[in-house]
Amino acid sequence: MFENLSERLGGVFDRLTKQGSLSDEDVKTALREVRVALLEADVSLPVARDFVNKVQEKATGQAVTKSITPGQQVVKIVHDALIDTLTGEGEPGALKIDNAPAPILMVGLQGGGKTTTTAKLAKRLKDREGKRVLMASLDVNRPAAMEQLAILGKQIGVDTLPIVKGEDPLAIARRAKTQASMGGYDVYMLDTAGRLSIDEELMQQVEAVRNVTNPRETLLVVDGLTGQDAVHTAQNFDDRIGITGVVLTRMDGDGRGGAALSMRAVTGKPIKFVGLGEKMDALETFEPERIAGRILG
Ligand code: GDP
Repeated sequence: MFENLSERLGGVFDRLTKQGSLSDEDVKTALREVRVALLEADVSLPVARDFVNKVQEKATGQAVTKSITPGQQVVKIVHDALIDTLTGEGEPGALKIDNAPAPILMVGLQGGGKTTTTAKLAKRLKDREGKRVLMASLDVNRPAAMEQLAILGKQIGVDTLPIVKGEDPLAIARRAKTQASMGGYDVYMLDTAGRLSIDEELMQQVEAVRNVTNPRETLLVVDGLTGQDAVHTAQNFDDRIGITGVVLTRMDGDGRGGAALSMRAVTGKPIKFVGLGEKMDALETFEPERIAGRILG
């Protein structure tokens, strides 16, 4: 088990002589520990390096406050810098879904939790915002995925677009749009196909669906435990499709949340929600404070 960062830094500073302000050397020594802690929390190396440099600039020369130890002081600077990096613009979890029916495009790789998250989010919009939501699965290559969405829809009391055999994803997207307008829905969610890895066919399909529906939100759903892979996936989808936000799933697992920091630092896209389990209520808005606490250990 790793010691938490506060304990580690306490140890480091105990060994250093007491001075009136944080010296270059003090800060450097402390930041070596911070870097190790970040890497242990699965933050990618370039992001950890940049982050530590940023903190170093802030910390060097700061007067040592009497009420807290130098170690605690560095932890506070690191904590504030984490919050800074993790905080996106706007209210976390706020979706742009005015102008009914608002399309939400759900994208991501197979197994990342896309279908589950589509249903969780639909339930949340229904329960908390009183929205009428229609869900449609475009995953024609995996009939089981289409069935799964229909089953979840029944379970949470959200309508799904009836499945028509042999229809292609674009036709389904168009039908969802028409059905949402005619049926007086506030939001329609499109659960796009997932694949094991990003390929050209998948991207073309998602792109075509995007062009037909002009989504208000395009949310990438990625497994938060996959660290660097999650960040690559986000970069790829953003370059090609343009995403408006990220949902990190499996944050109930024992990962330390470093993917969140790398994600924000590399893509600049807000993390809107985190998935905290398999149940339909296990979706929460992203809280930078919580993740910062987890990364610091
Ligand atoms: P998709 O292929 O991306 O549509 O993935 P699914 O929605 O089918 O999810 C794959 C598996 O991950 C299912 O067993 C889900 O119950 C599970 N899952 C999804 N989100 C979470 C989460 O936040 N935490 C946990 N523990 N499991 C999740």
